[in-house]
Parts: sequence; structure tokens; C-alpha cells
Amino acid sequence: MKKIASFCVNHDTLLPGIYLSRVDGDVVTYDIRMVKPNCPPYLPNPVLHTIEHLFATFARNSSFADQVIYFGPMGCRTGFYFLVTGMEHGEVIALIQEIFSRIAVFDDTIPGAACSAECGNYLEHDLPGAREWAAKFMPIIESWTPEKLKYAE
Ligand SMILES: [Zn+2]
Repeated sequence: MKKIASFCVNHDTLLPGIYLSRVDGDVVTYDIRMVKPNCPPYLPNPVLHTIEHLFATFARNSSFADQVIYFGPMGCRTGFYFLVTGMEHGEVIALIQEIFSRIAVFDDTIPGAACSAECGNYLEHDLPGAREWAAKFMPIIESWTPEKLKYAE
């Protein structure tokens, strides 16, 4: 089978940050990498899950709501995929920075996690953990620029 493009990125030299993964027509995929590959600790699943709920909610309630296509976790628990359309790279970076800074201090009910009807595993959440990981990620992304989106060859 054909090796998909994201498996061709050299994971041994990758550092945490925001990267441009792929462009499919109008749809642009960004990799939000919070953990250096193969260097534990990885995002614990409850943290990954809570960040997923919060980021998706904030993105879909932002001024770019109509341009957000998808936000979801990487199976390796080192970060997230963020798919958008019709946004400048700088706007995407600014949105990611804003949302992570909000997650870092979020102290309210986790959206979409109140009961079993709302989520596939509504008890598996960790809000303090999500805050902690978001706060730890902020210094890495706060000076991110469109020039830094490109993966090293
Ligand atoms: Zn859920």
C-alpha cells in the first residue's frame, strides 16, 4: 500500500509546534504537536479528550466558525489535527494561540460532557490536566509564525 504523506515526515527530528500537514483543494490540515514524537509522557487520554471538547467548542464559536472543518486527536497522543478552509496561515496560528490560552485558564463545565447522551466516554475527562498541558504548550506557540509552519525536509 502507498505510504501516506504524514508518515513520511521524519518523526525523529520533529519538535512540538504548529505545522502545515497537507492541502487538499480548499481544505488545509494543520498538525498541532504538543509532544516530541516517541518522547513520553504522552497526552493522557482524559487530557486529550477534554482538550478536544474545549478546542472544538471554542473554534466553532469563534469568528471563524464557518471555516472550521475538524479538530481531533492524533492516535499517538502527541497532538491534534486541525482542518480549516479559507483562512490565512497567520489567522489559523492566532486562533490556535487564543484557544490554547483560553483552555489554560478554563474553569467551567466541559462542553458536551454532561451526560452519556452527549459524549461517547463522558466520564473520561481531566480539566485540570487539560489546563496544565495547554499552559505548558503556550510558550512553544506564542511566537509561532507562518514561516515556522513548514516541516523540515
Ligand atoms: Zn467526548
